[in-house]
Amino acid sequence: MSELPDPLAWLDSASEHRRAAGLHRVLSPRQPNDGIIDLASNDYLGLSRHPEVIAGAKRSLDLWGPGSTGSRLVTGTTAEHLQLEEELADFTGAPSALVFSSGYMANIAAVTALSNKDTLIVSDSASHASLVDACRLSRGRIAVVEHCNLSAVRAALEGRDEEHALVVTDSVFSADGDLAPLRGLHAVCREMDAVLIVDEAHGIGVRGEGGQGLVHESGLAGEPDIVITMTLSKALGSQGGAVVADDRIREHLINTARTFIFDTGLSPAAVGAARAALRVLKREPERAQAVLDHAAVLAEAADVAGKPESAVVSVVLGDAATAVAAAQRCLEEGVRTGCFRPPSVPPGTSRLRLTARADLTENELAAVTQVLRRIAGDAE
Ligand code: PMP
Repeated sequence: MSELPDPLAWLDSASEHRRAAGLHRVLSPRQPNDGIIDLASNDYLGLSRHPEVIAGAKRSLDLWGPGSTGSRLVTGTTAEHLQLEEELADFTGAPSALVFSSGYMANIAAVTALSNKDTLIVSDSASHASLVDACRLSRGRIAVVEHCNLSAVRAALEGRDEEHALVVTDSVFSADGDLAPLRGLHAVCREMDAVLIVDEAHGIGVRGEGGQGLVHESGLAGEPDIVITMTLSKALGSQGGAVVADDRIREHLINTARTFIFDTGLSPAAVGAARAALRVLKREPERAQAVLDHAAVLAEAADVAGKPESAVVSVVLGDAATAVAAAQRCLEEGVRTGCFRPPSVPPGTSRLRLTARADLTENELAAVTQVLRRIAGDAE
């Protein structure tokens, strides 16, 4: 009997290619209290293990159980979901907010629900993958423009035939930690009759007074033509996402956004955790500045030029194998770093991605400095 053909045989050659290029990825589970210093997570404010945040999650868990039991339009909205939405709007200075099961879903909702076949979507070339996917899922025409280039955004908008236009960007770019020129982008959008969608995943909790985000810091909070998307899974130490905008947009998303309508509502425990995290951050706004201060210490230790503008410090090393080896070396020395390789970053720019946390202690910063200096010295 002849062997059946394997319709997925191509996966083996894809895997071989990945391995040969140093791009093969494996999962390395964390152990609780492993004593390793974390410079890899997005737990920027150190709230994911904060007792009040855990208590907030437990309270909601006890009240509602782990799952929300349905989509937001059916049974998946608890009173706490609505309270969280009000608190997020209040925190960011916008009229209203709508919570999703992740930041990814929030981005897909915002871009797809606010566009149609007659929309031009202008996206920064470094926009996060979730914004890229959101653009692809939309029916609009997509123009990818050079990173942080205002003239390119203007030129794309000027040349459009479409009636509507969206400009989408991260506020803090996830790989390099640099900032989008939000005031300039907003002015161009105003002039060219476009809506600006800003993903504040890495801005909330870090930029702006008390971590209110880069939109707030840029004096643009509450502007009617700006839509903020965010995640609850980074600075707020929970899970979930939100679109923060005005009431008209919120109502439109509730009624049309597929990732709102057809997705199960966010877990109540995640809602409780996020609410508690916001309370802690409001009470301790200095946590936001501590992230930037600690990022500066990391940048100096890793010999990265310039003052970090966010929690992210990127140590660009070149090829993927070098970055993997450096990350492994850090781990052996008790420091967990992020290792970014293509497709997360362009080829030849593989890197250690260090993330600062507000709760890094003096001792931890000193230990990390030693490790980073040793590794930088060995590389020379
Ligand atoms: N936007 C950006 C810029 C991100 O970095 C991420 C998470 N990596 C997301 C959106 C997605 O958020 P979530 O993890 O909540 O889906």
